[in-house]
Amino acid sequence: MDDREFFTKLASLDRGIADRWKRATGGRLSARVGEKAVEAIVIPVLLTKKVTASQAQALAMVFHTEGLNTEARIFMVTAIIAAYDNDIFFAGSAKPLITRDDLQPIDAALGMANVGKIHFTSPGTGMTYAPDLYNAIRGLIYAGKIRVFEADAALLLTRLGNYRGDLNRIVLYKGAAPAARAEMIVHEVTHAIQDWRNLDSTVKFIEADAYIAGAVAALGANPDYSFLEYKAEQTAAKELILDGSAARMDRAWTEAYANLVKRIEATPTYRATSNLKFGGADKKGRADKATLFKDALAYFKADNIFAAAVDDFYQMGSDASKYVKRLLALGGK
Ligand SMILES: [Zn+2]
Repeated sequence: MDDREFFTKLASLDRGIADRWKRATGGRLSARVGEKAVEAIVIPVLLTKKVTASQAQALAMVFHTEGLNTEARIFMVTAIIAAYDNDIFFAGSAKPLITRDDLQPIDAALGMANVGKIHFTSPGTGMTYAPDLYNAIRGLIYAGKIRVFEADAALLLTRLGNYRGDLNRIVLYKGAAPAARAEMIVHEVTHAIQDWRNLDSTVKFIEADAYIAGAVAALGANPDYSFLEYKAEQTAAKELILDGSAARMDRAWTEAYANLVKRIEATPTYRATSNLKFGGADKKGRADKATLFKDALAYFKADNIFAAAVDDFYQMGSDASKYVKRLLALGGK
């Protein structure tokens, strides 16, 4: 792409970003761009608190130009992380996934072929994970107690998804390959399980558990799956789980787990947060979640009854079913 094509493409996505890029670079892709210059390009759109899919794509184009120096690149990474954390991409493009068709990626990711082999007790959090817990979260999603949205952040920093316990919300970001999306859904649903089970722990341990569950699912569905973040450590943990060794006090398992935690602690994404506490102080909210999760766990026991069970659940005239009906009406489908 030459200078002029780059500008035209950028302008078709967002005129403001394009004009500011031109001012900062003289319209030349070869121009060096420092921190101040990239700040001038990026900040005005972030201040709107709402970045649309096209604007995200425009930011991605700027981010991937060769001219950015190290400081400019670091500034952009920091700004993009802040935009994710403050729901700025979410505000610009999120749409709720409500119907069974919408939720097909969730069904695919949480089917038995993926989560059926998740059986382990975490040396970090002390939690025991099993397929039924994933089914229960899937049930809560269908009941509207956990809401799922899709948003488009142009795959910036390759963030694929996120779960927020304060909002009971899963966001799937567009653009992930189906297998990577499935791994991410299992990862985020693992966080949902931790939240609805009122786990008190530390970020590095809740992440290690989620990365392990994601790997068991992804490698179970496809042994050649190649998108693992911590390939060696996740694969080692998965093998021990399949051997039935992933129990409390097992030496090899505890070591494999510790190795993964070490890798997570060393990752830039987690360096600042790995030792932060996980788990809220909201007593009432926690008690409500515990009760509902127990109900869902009893209700959505096995995968093969899942289709029927969801429909029955809706027929029960629960708040959940009213909620879904209301959302369906709003969504026009
Ligand atoms: Zn995570």
